[in-house]
Amino acid sequence: MSNKNIAKIDGIDVEITNDKTILDHAKSLGKDIPTLCHDDRLDPNGCCRMCLVEVDGWPRMAPSCATKISPGMNITTENERIDRHRKTLISLYLSDHPENPREKETGAPNQLLHFADKYDVSNGWPHLENKRFERPDDPNPFIHFHADKCISCARCVRYCDEVEAVSAITLAGRGSSTTIATADNISLLDSTCELCGGCIDVCPTGAMDEKIPLLAKAPPERELEKVRTTCNYCGVGCQMDLNVDPNANDGKGKVVKITSPDPGTTTNDGNLCVKGRFAYDFIDHKDRITSPLIRDKNGILQETSWEVAIEYAAQGLKKVREKYGNDGLGFISSSRCTGEENYLMQKMSRTVFQTNNIHQCAAT
Ligand code: SF4
Ligand code: SF4
Repeated sequence: MSNKNIAKIDGIDVEITNDKTILDHAKSLGKDIPTLCHDDRLDPNGCCRMCLVEVDGWPRMAPSCATKISPGMNITTENERIDRHRKTLISLYLSDHPENPREKETGAPNQLLHFADKYDVSNGWPHLENKRFERPDDPNPFIHFHADKCISCARCVRYCDEVEAVSAITLAGRGSSTTIATADNISLLDSTCELCGGCIDVCPTGAMDEKIPLLAKAPPERELEKVRTTCNYCGVGCQMDLNVDPNANDGKGKVVKITSPDPGTTTNDGNLCVKGRFAYDFIDHKDRITSPLIRDKNGILQETSWEVAIEYAAQGLKKVREKYGNDGLGFISSSRCTGEENYLMQKMSRTVFQTNNIHQCAAT
């Protein structure tokens, strides 16, 4: 290892192989530096000041998320001064937060409260009255902004700019009145917003909240069970987590929201579109078809078993083949099926029915 490329983090030699930050290198050593405004999908912002660390020879502490590591740096991520800084900072945030924050944790877990627990901070500072305006009458069906929980970290705004490239929301106002607004405070429905819900996903305090579970008075996310699955709305195959309230539906459970896995852990990098994130009410919809249907002689669809339905379909396909030959049949598959199901569909077409008339909607 050449000494030219070495820095030290908490006394451990780190080889600098890229132009990444102190935070990135500290993470690779398993260090757990607290952050609020940081998200791996976004450019560093350094505004929340939670991740400050000491660098030998530097008069002030440096934001580890926004400071590139360089050879010869001697970095300390934990000591009495840093701990005092984190405690003071958390107290300041809490003084400008709802007075009973745990009761108001309606949606995602509040990372500020997590750090308050971790650093053993109970708020002894005078409480400030919330001066941030919100859009309580915004009729958009999915996103509610609790201005009192906002810490102005701008993760939502930066996600909207940098990942969605939509810029529907922005920081507005100054000082303690700084809030998240749309242009002229119009509804998200009238803005460029695509209702992707990414702003909810990245918000560290739950200030951006999902309306559907909020209005349904679903339990907060920490009381829900997460089940990883693949979105079936299109062929991209985004990974998502169904959040199940185990006590709903007389103990049978009910999906009450969808969240995305952490960035960097799945191919969709924690991003979802409006359908994947919000269009889950079909799961328990009364009109959902849950068993096979066959038309009776009057043309009315009647429920039947899978065995009867499969036999009926097989006989129908055979009749067409007998009358019109193999190429009288055509098979159309769907991008909503899995790759394995699509493979089986073409296998059935080509080998069982001896026709290449097989197509899939994603190919058009
Ligand atoms: S839902 Fe998506 S597009 Fe709309 S404001 Fe939030 S991040 Fe931007
Ligand atoms: S709404 Fe959430 S993500 Fe946006 S600035 Fe406020 S705390 Fe940060």
